[in-house]
Order: sequence, then C-alpha cells, then structure tokens
Amino acid sequence: MKMICIGRNYSEHARELNNPVPSEPVFFMKPESAQLRNNQPFIYPEFSKDIHYEAELVLHVCKVGRNIQEKFAGTYYDGIGVGLDFTARDLQQKAKEKGLPWEMAKAFDFSAPVSKFIPLSTFADLANIRFGLFKNGELVQQGNSSEMIFSFDKIISYVSRFVTLKQGDYIFTGTPAGVGPVQIGDRLEAFIEDQKLLLCNIR
Ligand code: MG
Repeated sequence: MKMICIGRNYSEHARELNNPVPSEPVFFMKPESAQLRNNQPFIYPEFSKDIHYEAELVLHVCKVGRNIQEKFAGTYYDGIGVGLDFTARDLQQKAKEKGLPWEMAKAFDFSAPVSKFIPLSTFADLANIRFGLFKNGELVQQGNSSEMIFSFDKIISYVSRFVTLKQGDYIFTGTPAGVGPVQIGDRLEAFIEDQKLLLCNIR
C-alpha cells in the first residue's frame, strides 16, 4: 500500500507557511513503512529538531482505479479516518530552499499515525466533516471538509491521472491552519466530530 498526501488544501494553512494557494492539487507520497497503527507512540527521530504535527482527514481507498472521472470518484473510497502527517519542518525547509524533493521530511518511518476508518454511510454530509487535534488537552487545530480547496472527489480524480489507486491505499487530504511543533512527552489526540479516534504520545 501507499499513502498519497495532499499539500496546501486549506488556504489558511498555505498562508501560515507562506505558500501560494495552489490552482491544482499538490501531492506527495509516504511509503507503507511510514504507517503507525493502533495508537502506538511516535519516537522522536534523531535527524530532526523540528517535527510538526498536521492533522488531516484520511480516505481509505477501496478499489483499483486510474483516470477516474470526478463523478465516479465517490465509489473509490469507503471510509474516512483521521491521521497525522508528521513533518520534519527543518528538513523540509532546507529541501524547499534548494528545490529538492520532500521525502526525507515527509516519508520517514512512522511519520503517519492513522486512526480506524469510519464507514462513509455514517456521515450525513461528506462536505461538512469537522475534525481537529488536541495537544496536551488544548485544541490546536480545527478544520472542516467544507473548507478544502479541492474536494475528496477532485483529489481522487486528479491524483489518479498520474498514479493508479489500489485497494488499501490511504489519501491524506490536507491540514487546516494551526500546525506546530511537538516535543517528547506531548500527547496528541485527533478527532472527527465529537469522537476522539487517534491518540499519539511522543516519546
Ligand atoms: Mg500535510
């Protein structure tokens, strides 16, 4: 499996990192080895001094597809969870300055804790899903799928022009404003609506 991650899908977050608001989706990937499941703790890696959390809604891909038309995109995912796109911001900043790829900063081991997936049928409106993140009990990020620049279906359609989607892939759909650093000892809890679905302690 692979994880496809959308960057800059919430305009306030693009602005907080001084990035332009994109006219087409920006995406990158994390490999299977980036998965962190079952609320396991995240071990702060030695190669970075500035790991940031980014809470995101995550789609679970349920069938193979490429060149998917937007009007059929809704049949290619069957669940939504919440995940963290851990980012080594110091490495990413250096890569950006040199015009180099982001893999070191984004795709490292265990950089993608993901909750269980909630079946699509339990959501009244996919374009109105509230989610966010508590750090040490304080609300640090809150977003709503209504604020996305590119909808779930647009993302599926766009990405599948370049990369075949396969059953079991995850799609991280972008983070709202409020990203920030973590430190050893922090406790992160991500939620969808009123349900805390993901716990991640930083060790
Ligand atoms: Mg992200």
